[in-house]
Amino acid sequence: MYRIGQGYDLHRLEEGRELILAGVSIPFDKGLMGHSDADVLCHAVTDALLGALARGDIGSHFPDNDPAYKGADSVDLLQRIVRVVTGAGYKVENLDCTVVAERPKLRDYIDRMRQNLAEVLGVPTSHVSVKAKTNEGVGPEGRGEAISAQVVVLLSETPV
Ligand code: MG
Repeated sequence: MYRIGQGYDLHRLEEGRELILAGVSIPFDKGLMGHSDADVLCHAVTDALLGALARGDIGSHFPDNDPAYKGADSVDLLQRIVRVVTGAGYKVENLDCTVVAERPKLRDYIDRMRQNLAEVLGVPTSHVSVKAKTNEGVGPEGRGEAISAQVVVLLSETPV
């Protein structure tokens, strides 16, 4: 038995924030705004896992008005949802992610993002794809106002 999940997220870029994608701190003059560390890629992965299980979304598990999650490390939040996946009797097979960011160039950080996600998800790095695209200068991502992420994940039932 397999289940497919899809996740999407977008956060605004603002000055005075650290830019963190899949737990990797990326040097840039702006970072993503949010209640947590605003790691848009981790959030989209988390939503993809929850979507595959039909168990709601990141906001229903970690409300953004709960002080407990202020400045939260989104890798930790993802780790908690990986335990939900395991508890439901599933494991991650593979993951395919797209990050849409006009700037900065993400090429040099992609492999570290893949390694971080693979470690949290308990899969080989070869099962985690992270792709980075610009938005050709149009839309909020293209104007450098935001970064978004889209993720598809495949889960398989673990033998009992
Ligand atoms: Mg988010």
